Amino acid sequence: MRINPDFPPAAKTALEMLHGAGFEAYLIGGSVRDSIMGKPTGDIDVTTNAEPSAVEKVFSSFRVVETGIRHGTVTVIIGGEPVEITTYRSDGEYSDNRHPDSISFSKSLSEDVRRRDFTMNAVAFSYETGYVDLTGGIEDIRSKTVRCIGSAQSRFHEDALRILRALRFSSVLGFTVDSDAEAAVHACKDLLNNISAERIREETVKLLCGENAAGILKEFPDVMCTVIPELEACVGFEQKNRHHIFDVYTHTVKALGFSRPQKDTRLALLFHDIGKPRAAFFDKKGEMHFNGHPALSAEMTEKIMTRLRFDNLTKQRVTSLVMYHDYPIADLSDEQTPDRVRIKKLMSETGAELCRELIEIKKCDNKAQKPEFYRGDEFYSRALAAIDEIEQNGECYTREKLAVNGADAEKLGFSGKKTGGILKLCLDAVIEGRAENSRKALLEFMKNNKE
Ligand code: ATP
Ligand code: MG
Repeated sequence: MRINPDFPPAAKTALEMLHGAGFEAYLIGGSVRDSIMGKPTGDIDVTTNAEPSAVEKVFSSFRVVETGIRHGTVTVIIGGEPVEITTYRSDGEYSDNRHPDSISFSKSLSEDVRRRDFTMNAVAFSYETGYVDLTGGIEDIRSKTVRCIGSAQSRFHEDALRILRALRFSSVLGFTVDSDAEAAVHACKDLLNNISAERIREETVKLLCGENAAGILKEFPDVMCTVIPELEACVGFEQKNRHHIFDVYTHTVKALGFSRPQKDTRLALLFHDIGKPRAAFFDKKGEMHFNGHPALSAEMTEKIMTRLRFDNLTKQRVTSLVMYHDYPIADLSDEQTPDRVRIKKLMSETGAELCRELIEIKKCDNKAQKPEFYRGDEFYSRALAAIDEIEQNGECYTREKLAVNGADAEKLGFSGKKTGGILKLCLDAVIEGRAENSRKALLEFMKNNKE
């Protein structure tokens, strides 16, 4: 192991200044863990015996933000980098499964380490001491194990968010949750109901964007259903339809696992079929169908994301992706060729950027159905190429790109809702190649479609 790993200069400065003022100070948490794994380090967390007021004094010439002063945390901005500096702490009783009833600052690193969640997050580092590992964290990082410090059950009872953090770290780092923690995750999952929506959301998004997200979702459906109870109906819901071989939850997890680790994409895939169990019905031949499931799934997505207090932009994007995930982009007569007209119509609903995202979603969705129905990567590359081409050619797919506008329609006697209606007809006609996108042709078209 490298003894002097590459931490950002801000980390070194923070430690030197605290040491210079006579305090103990160590890097701890994610950046130390990442350095042991040989990965570039992210956010810098420092732990110290200096109390917050002393920290503020040491860094009086820097910008200091009192991020969590009650918990002993201040953020110092060093060369543009935020460094979180937290006073050694030991936590009192936790009676609400969320917060310690009281905290007290403590004198020793060893006490501070014991209040932390996992061994991999409790290795300290300073340039004088090298790594200080009081809980066996280095060995657990080497063997890729998520292990609680002390009894997993008690640690999850103290702060139930740790249940989700265990799964998040396992997903992101590809670590295995050790058997004690695994059993406690299942046993304690209902305590997650005591945790705020914001904290749940943050960890869930990180979990979903991990390289092993699909593995975690497969292994811990019970936890996912605690966080998102609407998923419950999907687990084990068999799709008696010739396109499918998996139940709705398994299909969902597989589709998500095929996708790139991007927040909106992963959320949309998690939710894309969530309305299927409610939409399901049998035809006369005994085959199951799910008509209307995208709209139902979109409605449920909106509710779930509101409950988890997602920002409006993310909510809108993900809901649209769910809404249009099943929109056909090939003609029934030639399912192997992406259809430019359909793609343009989809672009008119979603815009080009979201449409590209949808192609990725459709690909992963399709790949997770019965294998013989997979259209192949090539089909989806061609669909993406079609979007690029439509954009580059400046082809018309939105009302703004039409050669006529509302004022033109009104001059011809359209008003109110009918104005929007005739412009939509113009757009459809242009997209479908029934009318040329020129003023002359479209004025003529509007005159001929007055009814
Ligand atoms: P990331 O790479 O996401 O920043 P991290 O390990 O640094 O990972 P943070 O959420 O930034 O995670 O927390 C910093 C450190 O604080 C953790 O490594 C851990 O030691 C401690 N910690 C954070 N949240 C908890 C918690 N809920 N319970 C116990 N310790 C925690
Ligand atoms: Mg961190």
